[in-house]
Amino acid sequence: MADDLLKKIIAHSKEYGFIFPSSEIYDGLSAVYDYGQNGAELKKNIKEYWWQSMVQLHSNIVGLDAAIFMHPKVWEASGHVGAFNDPLIDNKDSKKRYRADVLIEEFRAKYEAKIDNEVKKAKKKFGDSFDTEQFFKTNPNVLRNQNKIDKLNERFVKALNDNDLEELRQIIIDNEIACPESGSKNWTEVRQFNLMFNTKLGSVSDSANTIYLRPETAQGIFVNYLNVQKTGRMKIPFGIAQIGKAFRNEIVARQFIFRMREFEQMEMQFFVRPGEEMKWYEYWKEFRIKWHKNLELGNDKYKTHDHDKLAHYANAAVDIEFDFPMGFKEVEGIHSRTNFDLSRHQEFSGKKLQYFDPELNESYVPYVVETSIGLDRMFMTILSAAYKEEVVGDNGETRIVLSIPPALAPFKIAILPLVKKDGLSEVAQKIFDKLRLHFNVMYEEKDSIGKRYRRQDAIGTPYCITIDHQTIEDNAVTLRHRDTMEQERISIDDLIKTVEEKVSMVKLLEGLI
Ligand code: ATP
Repeated sequence: MADDLLKKIIAHSKEYGFIFPSSEIYDGLSAVYDYGQNGAELKKNIKEYWWQSMVQLHSNIVGLDAAIFMHPKVWEASGHVGAFNDPLIDNKDSKKRYRADVLIEEFRAKYEAKIDNEVKKAKKKFGDSFDTEQFFKTNPNVLRNQNKIDKLNERFVKALNDNDLEELRQIIIDNEIACPESGSKNWTEVRQFNLMFNTKLGSVSDSANTIYLRPETAQGIFVNYLNVQKTGRMKIPFGIAQIGKAFRNEIVARQFIFRMREFEQMEMQFFVRPGEEMKWYEYWKEFRIKWHKNLELGNDKYKTHDHDKLAHYANAAVDIEFDFPMGFKEVEGIHSRTNFDLSRHQEFSGKKLQYFDPELNESYVPYVVETSIGLDRMFMTILSAAYKEEVVGDNGETRIVLSIPPALAPFKIAILPLVKKDGLSEVAQKIFDKLRLHFNVMYEEKDSIGKRYRRQDAIGTPYCITIDHQTIEDNAVTLRHRDTMEQERISIDDLIKTVEEKVSMVKLLEGLI
């Protein structure tokens, strides 16, 4: 079922110009994708929603656009050269490669799904009188599965924290975890694999010229901390936000745009007084969850998950997970990174990266709380929640509709003259010219009106207007709503105001304050 939905979303994305495999005429490039005409618009609107809510709505946050290439020492200081590894394991029979930690997590998710099912069944049976807490304490199936999860977790978390690769393998063997493709349990050793891509700078190919494609945008912010603080006269607490490409040579890159080798991140690093980081961590956690829920994709589609293993730089970290077709998975991370990064850059560069706090009358290396979201994963949350197949009308006819939040939809309105003749095209063209100053508008006069409506539903256009013969007499058009398919007659003079009410970014941002 879930697999089906993912396949349908991939096919739909391609058919309607959202996402194409990279270099498709050469059979594609693994885990690299291109955004088509509609995808580029949706992506741009997601960026805008993020940027405006983070930078425009927070007067103490400013933007940055740092280069992808950075001095190689940056990645030594950040710990990426030494520790940006994933544990890799191969199946000897199927020759398939996996991340050992992901294999174990997916195995654990099966027990979690069993508990979820048990709870769902009981909720249905007992209705309003159902007591979740009591059920978790007493139901033997839930208790048994929870016990298995707890035992597994204890070993797993310890193995991750100790970087114990042999123990990771042993967990896979002891739990009889099989290769998802072949069912084989014939595993190799677990090895560490560094995820950074490297290349050469300039024409002399000695090792001194090896540079990396950045695996995260954050370091561009850290190395510019002082530049921005000084030139922007920023006072702590303040933040620097950035949207940009990141590159990771992922071991297993499946599941469409969920895990890519080239992707985009939207990150914000918030610099705070040492000791105040947990307060800001809570603030940003709450704000970021609000940002997601404000899109109304369904509040039950989000979960938060505290990290099993904290990264070398963090003292607290939480994932915001979304209910993708493959189950709940991370879409965003909020991390309290202590003063690790700035201290390390201070050490490696020999330059002071401190802040003089006039209220405390002392200098310190600021602490950092970051919010880090994958733009492509965010794109996928929207597609996953928006894709719907609906039966319309009495004769079993179906439609595919993308109920994309209107402010993010690629096109806000489609202008459809009922027929080309009788001067309708000319009237429609006039309306088009007026509306395009305000919104991204599509003009279409080919095919029957029914077919044109379906095409707009399939790309998520919230409104269609039809210009008919009556329009010439009464200066009014038919406005059709995407989600309800309801139609109303509306004066051309009221169009901009009515549509704006629903599709403007301002409306969406208002939900955050
Ligand atoms: P995962 O555990 O899924 O590999 P991560 O914890 O390594 O992710 P972070 O380093 O915290 O991810 O990166 C921040 C965000 O960047 C993630 O929440 C995710 O949305 C996005 N991201 C990370 N790796 C990828 C990828 N390969 N493709 C697309 N988005 C990614």
